Amino acid sequence: MGLLHFLRGNTFSHGVHPPQHKDLTNALAIRRLPFAPRMILPLSQHFGAPSIPIVHEGQEVVRGQPIAEADGFLSVPLHSPATGVIEKFDLVHTVRGPKTKAIILKLYPGASQEVLYEISQDIDAMNPGEIVNAVQHTGMVGLGGATFPTHVKLSPPKEFPIDTVLVNGCECEPYITSDHRVMLEHTAELIRGIRIILKAVGAKRAVIGIEDNKIDAVEAIRAKLPKGAPITVELVKTKYPQGSEKMLITALLDREVPSGGFPYHIGVSPFNVTTLAQLGTLLPRGQGLIERVVTLSGSGITNPGNYIVALGTPLRFVLEQVGYYGGHDKLIFGGPMMGMTISSLDVPVTKGISSIVVQTEQEQAANVAKKVYPCIRCAACVEACPIHLNPSQLGLLAAKHEYEIMQQHYHLNDCFECGSCSYVCPSGIPLVQYFRIAKAVNRERQD
Ligand code: SF4
Ligand code: SF4
Repeated sequence: MGLLHFLRGNTFSHGVHPPQHKDLTNALAIRRLPFAPRMILPLSQHFGAPSIPIVHEGQEVVRGQPIAEADGFLSVPLHSPATGVIEKFDLVHTVRGPKTKAIILKLYPGASQEVLYEISQDIDAMNPGEIVNAVQHTGMVGLGGATFPTHVKLSPPKEFPIDTVLVNGCECEPYITSDHRVMLEHTAELIRGIRIILKAVGAKRAVIGIEDNKIDAVEAIRAKLPKGAPITVELVKTKYPQGSEKMLITALLDREVPSGGFPYHIGVSPFNVTTLAQLGTLLPRGQGLIERVVTLSGSGITNPGNYIVALGTPLRFVLEQVGYYGGHDKLIFGGPMMGMTISSLDVPVTKGISSIVVQTEQEQAANVAKKVYPCIRCAACVEACPIHLNPSQLGLLAAKHEYEIMQQHYHLNDCFECGSCSYVCPSGIPLVQYFRIAKAVNRERQD
């Protein structure tokens, strides 16, 4: 099957093509940021129950040491990202908004910051249940941003056997290139992680999906795949939101996740490439997750690039290192399509942060409509929606606060807030913001 087949066939219908801006960082090798003097470690950096502290104020800890344990199965532990002393427990803001309990770690200025806590283990000798346990002990969550505990995804209900592990290397959001660099620079670790996960879920094969703007990553992985490995690399078209789980499953496997269902319902277990590369690194060493690669990009940063950042590093410190001078710039955690605007520089980098984008005022002015006009019924939003909703109709209902009708008759809950409809709307209607509000109101009414 030739390249042309993939370029024509491997995609989903609808979607959009926002400017990519990936050339700011995609050719730069991953670098390491220095350690901040103080780290902020929220106990809830993942989907599920917050972890429970197992340290006390004044206690000395070493880099990699567990400092909080999982609170049940739907939870993960937390490890110290540096050697230092537990200064205090505090309530802090995170990127998600409301204050949450956190451990504040003060670093020892002279410490070497070697990882001093690890217990190497033979993953090949482990059975699937033991691998699931070992994955939970790493504290691993979906590093693409979902932050769902990885070990839980490895344990789908028995009545839904998994035949395919889908490895997501699309990275379709503008600016973000951390997955791209990880695929190029940590190829062996990624392949090791995939093999471990195949064993854990009992799947026969793994398919890696990569957009056709990252041909070098496709070549790097294919060159390192052992002969006969049940792993294939497939190209998909560069189109937003190709990296969404449902879109990638449709494009590569020609299966559809049922409305309100999960990929395991159709025999698929999807993982992000960076998550698996990290597992391939951490599991054999018996280490916890203490740092991650973050894309720092945008016109408001002097030294854009992909950087290894210790978890808990305050955003203010991160931005100082890469040449951010402040002003009326817009700061976004994640990409401009699905990311969240940041209002405080005191929030820390946590497990789900793959990117921080800083846009100058000029750049914002070029991208954002200044005024909202009435809907002209052009149907551009309908043509863009990857799951074939009717954003125009939903928008009209949202304006009348008819939130329940949106849910009951127009499938509001299937909207995964990709922002494609807002992006194409010539009237500048902030459709996706309306939908977020509508969903939040409906959730509150149900509670
Ligand atoms: S934000 Fe929701 S309604 Fe709009 S295009 Fe994306 S999925 Fe469709
Ligand atoms: S794109 Fe905007 S103007 Fe066009 S139909 Fe949709 S909401 Fe209306």
